[in-house]
Amino acid sequence: MGNGYWQIVLRVNLTTGEISKEKVAESIWKKYLGGSGYGAKVLYDEVGPDVAPYDAENRLIFAAGPLQAAKQTGAAKFTVISKSPVTGIFGESAAGGTWGASFKAAGYDALIVQGKAAKPVYLQINDDDVEICDASKYWGSDAYDAADGILGDCGLEKASICTIGQAGENKVAIACIVVDKHSFAGRCGLGAVMGAKNLKAVVARGSKATPVYDAEKLKGLNKDINKSIHDNTKDWLRLHGTPFVEIGCDQAGDTPTKNWQLGGWPEGAEKLGVPAYTDTLEAKPHACSSCVVGCHRDITVAEPQEYAMKGPGPEYESLGMLGNNCLMDDVKALSKMNDLCNRYGVDSISMGSFLGFTMDLLEKGIIKPEDIGGVDLKWGDKENMIRLIHELGMKKPGFGELFADGIVPAAKKFGPEAEELAPHVKGLDLPAHDPRAFFALAVNYATGSVGPHHERGNPQVASGGFLLPEAGVSEEVDRFKMEDSEYVAAKYQDYGTLTQAICHCKFMFFGGYSLTNMLETMNALTGWDWSMEEMLRTAERIFTLQRMVNVKYGIDRKDDKLPAAMFKASEDGGRAGKAPHDFEEALDRYYDLRGWDNTGIPTHATVSSLGIE
Ligand code: SF4
Repeated sequence: MGNGYWQIVLRVNLTTGEISKEKVAESIWKKYLGGSGYGAKVLYDEVGPDVAPYDAENRLIFAAGPLQAAKQTGAAKFTVISKSPVTGIFGESAAGGTWGASFKAAGYDALIVQGKAAKPVYLQINDDDVEICDASKYWGSDAYDAADGILGDCGLEKASICTIGQAGENKVAIACIVVDKHSFAGRCGLGAVMGAKNLKAVVARGSKATPVYDAEKLKGLNKDINKSIHDNTKDWLRLHGTPFVEIGCDQAGDTPTKNWQLGGWPEGAEKLGVPAYTDTLEAKPHACSSCVVGCHRDITVAEPQEYAMKGPGPEYESLGMLGNNCLMDDVKALSKMNDLCNRYGVDSISMGSFLGFTMDLLEKGIIKPEDIGGVDLKWGDKENMIRLIHELGMKKPGFGELFADGIVPAAKKFGPEAEELAPHVKGLDLPAHDPRAFFALAVNYATGSVGPHHERGNPQVASGGFLLPEAGVSEEVDRFKMEDSEYVAAKYQDYGTLTQAICHCKFMFFGGYSLTNMLETMNALTGWDWSMEEMLRTAERIFTLQRMVNVKYGIDRKDDKLPAAMFKASEDGGRAGKAPHDFEEALDRYYDLRGWDNTGIPTHATVSSLGIE
């Protein structure tokens, strides 16, 4: 009998060309699970505070989890982890597609890349055969063309590929990793770390089935879980994808609007959301491996010619950031912008943040068009938005160079007024959910391991009936309540930590996937016979380890803060007159709950009781 793990980590040193396979004991997997849990352990052990994100000594970890062995719906994810060039701290981003399952089937739980190749290379993993191959002819290609070319050269049937575009090559800090031309490890600039290592792509193909503890039990669980998730999501998430929530989020005052200044934009949301999105873009579902939901969209824009494209459609986050946040309501133009972000390989969330921020600075007279290369960018100015996406992707002088290292260095160049308007925490741009619409999100954004993230804890859903009764959140939460916001934030962070570590899709939660489902699946996979308490304790251990990584990199309470705008209520929209308050008190309670001292550092007693070495 197996336990859902190979207990093998592949390590590739691009400087020396050395490739090794390391045995990692079951006790480590039991403590840190995989995905971002295992990645945090590698960063803590191997990447010190003196290593900069683009240094050869930084590690880039591609980690699968036990769930890939389950072949359960949602078990398509894998996580990429590194010291982030956007924040300088723990960075991670999950992606779907088929890469995680292919990599796991090749016989590994994680891949650690270190060093820097002397010339552009790609890594080819074909079961036991692992090779470093020349990628010189693809350097300069976009992420899609590189994927087609490299897969063609490999000639491996059913192989999957992670690529970077020109943005990663140019070390644009918000560069992402593109998976199978359809899924994205979007946040934290991990594509730029790939670029700094001269690593254009990682191909994976596997033919092995990971042994599991109780295959029969797992089969029964999968059957029930897959059916209920399919039934619970088919009329919304499968039918329309994440754009389904665009109008509801706008009504709740949750979607950033005009660089986070307005409380809603109903006329714009109607043009971007469902059914306009589905009808205009001829949107069809697209699924990651083993998934019965298929939340991604395949879209087609045939005309006008300047926006023509075919491929993955924008998710809600891209609609919110490139649309509402920039007052840009043309869903075809937005699809083109999203397609360009995908091909250059840049995070469309941060791209929308940069553009909305720049529009705001120009309107307020804080900067002039000459400061960004002579472009007079207005709200909703789609032609110039497209132009600036090209410029950032290629890191061209002007806007491209200005924002190449992220929003904080850009804002600093324009002084305190600009810095005050920059919507970020720890250097990472806020995603498309507003803490003024859900106060627990304020605590979550301020304390999240990577900075503000829409997936590493999404406590806002507790106000919509998506609860965690096994973790003590059994009643719908008042979204405008600071009292208990720390508790709700912590519990949803722990849930997010588990999904990122076992490498499961968080959207399964919206189909009714409970902590009990997760526990039963984990026990069938591993034979660990965990109690719910043990599983939740493991989440706390991993989250605390991630905090310890950040503490090692200089993070403490001074960094757990939000942009000033998040404490200013708007006059209009679904959150009119509301804003988080008594935030420092909530932070005190949060630290207490986590067992951290009042400077935000985990105490020795906490570290020891969680069994972190
Ligand atoms: S719900 Fe969406 S993101 Fe999650 S596994 Fe399915 S297709 Fe992929």
